[in-house]
Amino acid sequence: MTTQLSAVSTEQTRWDSYAPRYQALIDVPLDALQVPHWLQEWSDLSAELSQVGTLLSLAADLNTADQHSQSRLQHFREQVVAPSNLAEQQLRQKLLSVPHYQPAPDFALAYRRMRDQASMFREANVALDVQHQAQMQRHAEITGAQVVTLDGQSMTIPAAESELGSPDRARRQQVWQAMSDAQAQATGPLNDLMLALIDTRRQLAANADLSDYRAYIWHELDRVDYTPQQCLDFHTAVQREIVPLAQNIMQRKARQLGLETVRPWDYSRRTALDAQGRPPLRPFDTGAELEQLAQNVFDDLDADLGAQFARMRRDRLLDLESRPNKMSHAYCTSLDVAKTPFVLMNVVGSSQDLNVLLHEMGHAFHFFASAAAQPLIWNRWSPIEFIEIPSISMELLGLEQLGRVYSPKDLERVRQEQLESAVLFMPWAAQMDAFQHWLYTQAPQQPTAADLNAKWLELDRTFHPWLDWTGLDEGQRAAGWQYYHIFRAPFYYLEYAMCHLGALALWRAARNDSAATLTRYKAALRLGNTVSVPELYRAAGLEFRFDVDYVRGLMDVVVGELEGVQLNR
Ligand SMILES: [Zn+2]
Repeated sequence: MTTQLSAVSTEQTRWDSYAPRYQALIDVPLDALQVPHWLQEWSDLSAELSQVGTLLSLAADLNTADQHSQSRLQHFREQVVAPSNLAEQQLRQKLLSVPHYQPAPDFALAYRRMRDQASMFREANVALDVQHQAQMQRHAEITGAQVVTLDGQSMTIPAAESELGSPDRARRQQVWQAMSDAQAQATGPLNDLMLALIDTRRQLAANADLSDYRAYIWHELDRVDYTPQQCLDFHTAVQREIVPLAQNIMQRKARQLGLETVRPWDYSRRTALDAQGRPPLRPFDTGAELEQLAQNVFDDLDADLGAQFARMRRDRLLDLESRPNKMSHAYCTSLDVAKTPFVLMNVVGSSQDLNVLLHEMGHAFHFFASAAAQPLIWNRWSPIEFIEIPSISMELLGLEQLGRVYSPKDLERVRQEQLESAVLFMPWAAQMDAFQHWLYTQAPQQPTAADLNAKWLELDRTFHPWLDWTGLDEGQRAAGWQYYHIFRAPFYYLEYAMCHLGALALWRAARNDSAATLTRYKAALRLGNTVSVPELYRAAGLEFRFDVDYVRGLMDVVVGELEGVQLNR
């Protein structure tokens, strides 16, 4: 365990330790000239709270059985974070009411976002927001109780899902059936919850004087650089340029495996099925071995990135090994005072683990760069349309350095899987987005679960035409919209597709000039949140586009690679 993690004092978990400083910031007379200094104090205070929150949350995740850590975190959220949110709201209002204040260039975007958020405020939405949050929380209660029963044992859905990559088809079908049974238990409650959420969301929009919930979200997510129509055009682009390619990939795979058609258990976005029925690759055994592999990859890629990774190892900012009672996700989080990231994973020795580490380290490099360059906490990381580019492109750039890890044959397999998964993700992302555009602008006035199911079925046939559901319950297919983001993060999905495209474009550029591409990558990471999304893409040497011509150009490069792989056989 790292020393930082045990360093949270009781003092730091009390609201009393922060409240007087918040109050002082609220009370102090403020004119335009004093704002920059005042902002930095506010930012430093927020950073302290944020770091304590991260440390408590890490301690809780690293040992979920430790009751003391869990209750400390819970207490901090209730007693410190909740009142600090109210204080932060007062500080935003104070800032927005300073006469003649013109934000400095590096604060202009954050200021505009605060102003836009404030303009959405409606008294009538205060109670409704609380209700909305409670309804969204209900999703966790319903799905948290879902249990898959497999081989007489109970397990979570993600744990079962990893079995979908089994080369044994009968096993895959058994796993898929068990997962479907578990999901079916929640269908009714999730239907009711969704219909309630639609009501609430429509009312939130109406109270904010907006035509529909999509318009509301456009404001809330600060989508100023693109329109709903461009998103609809992207769905068409995916349908025309990517779905046939995805279909081709899946049908080729089925042919190689001697399958007549692709059944639902033969296809998982997350768990690639090997076309030659080979067992998964196991490039390492221990977390320490994985660290050394990754160190070689980053050293070969770029000296700065290699040094940053070495620092994370030295300062014990990585916790990679799987242990009992450790949170099962992988993530990268940030320590805002120390200005360092922290990566938590649960590695088992798979090639997927190496991928995930490259991914999380892309986030870590982003935080290192933006925290070092940006003194204000609001300017770290980046807008959501960019935030997955550092991570996904690191998976692709790292791929080019794995010759020391894998044999040429295995490397080819890993490359192929990686590129295939980039293609297969797009139809799913477009479908998720298309469904929500329909749900919040075109669905009937009083929608029923049957309406939602019918729309999802239509979209699933469009975006996943290779799936053969013959003889299976299509009601189950139709309930596929019951996915986390639809409930918990409305409309937040297209950003993943944008970042996939951006990462592919970056990878394409790196194949022409790796050093120049990495220089631009690092420059873009330093900008954090200080420039608009199109400017951020430009700094990385990319275009912020997702139209049909752009998508086609990127897919041409991927197809070239996939064919190359095929020709070598
Ligand atoms: Zn990520």
